Amino acid sequence: MRMPTLFVGHGTPMNALYDNKWTRAFKELGKTLPRPTAIVSISGHFFTPGIFVTANERPPTVHDFGGFPKELYEIEYPCPGDPALAARLAEMFEEAGELTEKWGLDHGTWSVLMHMYPEADIPTVQLSMDYGLDPDVHIAIGRMLAPLRDEGILILGTGNLTHNLRVPFHDQPEDAPPPDYAKAFDEKMTKALEERDFFTLMQAINTHEGQLNHPSPDHFLPLLYVAGAANDDEPVSYPITGFDRAFSMRAVQFG
Ligand code: ZN
Repeated sequence: MRMPTLFVGHGTPMNALYDNKWTRAFKELGKTLPRPTAIVSISGHFFTPGIFVTANERPPTVHDFGGFPKELYEIEYPCPGDPALAARLAEMFEEAGELTEKWGLDHGTWSVLMHMYPEADIPTVQLSMDYGLDPDVHIAIGRMLAPLRDEGILILGTGNLTHNLRVPFHDQPEDAPPPDYAKAFDEKMTKALEERDFFTLMQAINTHEGQLNHPSPDHFLPLLYVAGAANDDEPVSYPITGFDRAFSMRAVQFG
């Protein structure tokens, strides 16, 4: 069975604690997707000089943020790792791939998986994004991951389709409308995904509107892995849509 490939907008780390429309949608995704045999997560928060794969037997829950309430630092997501899968991934990249136990699961991964798979029983590894690589290489790596889908492995990208942190997030009311430039970028990327317009996806981050929405590219790039892991003839769908302030919470599913 070929597993769908999925990009999710994780939004604020506070979603780990909230019961809101986003977290209810994450829960629903966990119920509607076929159950994965393992998860390879590409998170906007694992953006590194080189390609790293978490090889921990028991990946620690990394609280990679500052200034949030104490309860958020107390959350543990105790799912198993998958050292054998990690080793296979690292081998794909030959000398460029490195196993690490210095990272575990960051909140890009656990703040979503704790809603999707609250039992924390699916082996999960994180694959880092090398910040020295061009967008076309991120897509090519996604393509390399595609065969894993035939083993029931979920290729999960976790970022946000728009993510302008210069707009102070928590100072705005929850129902604050998104800026026009965020709506326009979200629409443009949706069209590009539907048309499998990889050129637009690759260029997006270097355009003026791309930089407005992504002062740093880390939350956009996981989408390129997910798009790269999709077949040209697979349907694209959006199990979650809408904005949380300036962040697009759109989820993108292929297959
Ligand atoms: Zn984030």
